[in-house]
Amino acid sequence: MKKKLNDNLTLHYTNNFPKKLKSSSNKKYLVTIGIGGNIGNTKKIFDKLLLSLKSNKKFSILRTSPLLTNPPFGFLEQNDFLNGIIALKTNLSPNEFLKIMQRLEKRYGRKRSFQDAPRTLDIDIIFFDNKKINTKKLIVPHKDWANRESVIIPLKYMMNI
Ligand code: AMP
Repeated sequence: MKKKLNDNLTLHYTNNFPKKLKSSSNKKYLVTIGIGGNIGNTKKIFDKLLLSLKSNKKFSILRTSPLLTNPPFGFLEQNDFLNGIIALKTNLSPNEFLKIMQRLEKRYGRKRSFQDAPRTLDIDIIFFDNKKINTKKLIVPHKDWANRESVIIPLKYMMNI
């Protein structure tokens, strides 16, 4: 199912996005990640990512958002992006968590060629509980999250499921 929001933005409803998986977990930190991609079968890549997060005992997946197609920014000569949000709980530290997300990006074949270039899978840590982090490796909350339609629209629809 699709819902056109305007000329640029369309929401996509699939089997796994949006989905409510758990309402609570004993793990310590509530983490919100943003996922995005615009090369290959992005929906399928998101399904595989969700499956591998679900099968990892370090994570309890709470819910996922519907997916949003939206135009690229920066480098414009590329396909629209598909973006979504996953809310999960974990006991990992932010740096340990980032390392695993970067491993998953690699597993699904991300090629980093230049800034804002097309990508297979991008995983951003949007929020990590109520932590504020500002290191070389990690800025949390993710910078500019509040101005990105690719974050705020899926987030808003995820809250309402
Ligand atoms: P990008 O190409 O936009 O995915 O940026 C990747 C780099 O951003 C990585 O080297 C991370 O160390 C860094 N980074 C800083 N803050 C974050 C964050 N909140 N989530 C993911 N990566 C981050």
